[in-house]
Amino acid sequence: MDKQRDFVLRTIEERGVKFVRLWFTDVLGTLKSVAIAPAEVESAFAEGLGIDGSSIEGLTTASEADVIARPDPATFQVLPWRGEVDPTARMFCDILTPDGEGAAADPRNVLKRALARAAERGFSFYTHPECEFYLLKDADPSNPTPVDQAGYFDNVPGGTANDFRRASVRMLEDLGISVEFSHHEAGPGQNEIDLRYADALSTADNIQTFRTVVKEVAIAQGVHATFMPKPLQAQPGSGMHTHMSLFEGEQNAFHDAAGQYGLSRTGRQFVAGLLRHAPEFTAVTNQFVNSYKRLWAGDEAPSHISWGHNNRSALVRVPLSNKPQSARVEYRGIDAAANPYLAFSVMLAAGLKGIEEGYELPEEATTEVWSLTDKERRALGYEPLPSSLDRALGLMEDSELVAETLGEQVFEFFLQSKRADWRRYRAQVTQYELEANLTLL
Ligand code: GLN
Ligand code: MG
Ligand code: MG
Ligand code: MG
Repeated sequence: MDKQRDFVLRTIEERGVKFVRLWFTDVLGTLKSVAIAPAEVESAFAEGLGIDGSSIEGLTTASEADVIARPDPATFQVLPWRGEVDPTARMFCDILTPDGEGAAADPRNVLKRALARAAERGFSFYTHPECEFYLLKDADPSNPTPVDQAGYFDNVPGGTANDFRRASVRMLEDLGISVEFSHHEAGPGQNEIDLRYADALSTADNIQTFRTVVKEVAIAQGVHATFMPKPLQAQPGSGMHTHMSLFEGEQNAFHDAAGQYGLSRTGRQFVAGLLRHAPEFTAVTNQFVNSYKRLWAGDEAPSHISWGHNNRSALVRVPLSNKPQSARVEYRGIDAAANPYLAFSVMLAAGLKGIEEGYELPEEATTEVWSLTDKERRALGYEPLPSSLDRALGLMEDSELVAETLGEQVFEFFLQSKRADWRRYRAQVTQYELEANLTLL
């Protein structure tokens, strides 16, 4: 720890860093930043930085408005987009209460607690997200216009997308975040960047950094990047498929050469946990009114609960792993706008529950789940995911698993904030209704 702190202080000195940004995330997943002078960093390590958290979404209750942000020296990086003049660095922070406890409402702390629970059972949790997003000409909500007309894996000569991905990937690498894969996605202007496998806390931090990088590159290139789950009605939405595995020491607990698709019993139980608890945690992995437009429009987003191997319509996919280390399961429900700390926490808790209770995995889905009738799906046991944010919140409200995992404060704040969002949405009279009903009867 002290070594890491020394490294940070030395680097600040050597690189002539002028500002250090302290980053943390609110309950809704928005990244927050406060800049301090290099001279303050030493005391920020020792005592943390006192901040008034009262206007930060969900972070505090009125009675404990003051919180402390303590930077994590392991996350120190110089920000490449700030240039060489007056370099700026950042560190992620833990949010503490005035008596030095991890704040109940800090999403990073929620994930740390979930990881500690996994650690009690001897597991460490690894994730790898496939981050999809759209590049639009600008942020005009009345007319979202993609920057190109290309599709899946297209190479766009001279187009914005190649340059965009190259600049973003280079910047991410400068920040110590390895990118495994990047390509044009199926929608016009839609792209995907996959971050390499890492422990879930690092991955969640990396996703927050990734979103910032993508927005910075977009600004530099005069376009608008959006992580909205379904910005264009007639085009695919943006998911954040997440590959997950549990390790016991050096061993991948999901691997068993003798298991179907190389998946161990533990892996099967984890998937069974995801499937059983998906309805109650979907509000967390899909937190916006708009999230449900993605889930219910096909285009390779899952709407029903099943698992499969090479089945893109399944909620959970089990890829064949050729190496023991790479055995994993892919949760395809989560979208590009989820709070990664909270979403990883609930997915992990659901999987662990499956292991603890020894859930049995239902039979795999080999047909395309979208093409079945409702009756066929019912007969096969493929229950629907919640059809709206309203429905998802109703299921979450009754969930002990989600309440326990998020902790009471986050759980209550989340429900209340999202309910308000739903009410604002519901109050609208839409163009659809006007067109359908204005000349009725
Ligand atoms: N865009 C799809 C989704 O929303 C995923 C497409 C893909 O990666 N195959 O989940
Ligand atoms: Mg992909
Ligand atoms: Mg994709
Ligand atoms: Mg995928």
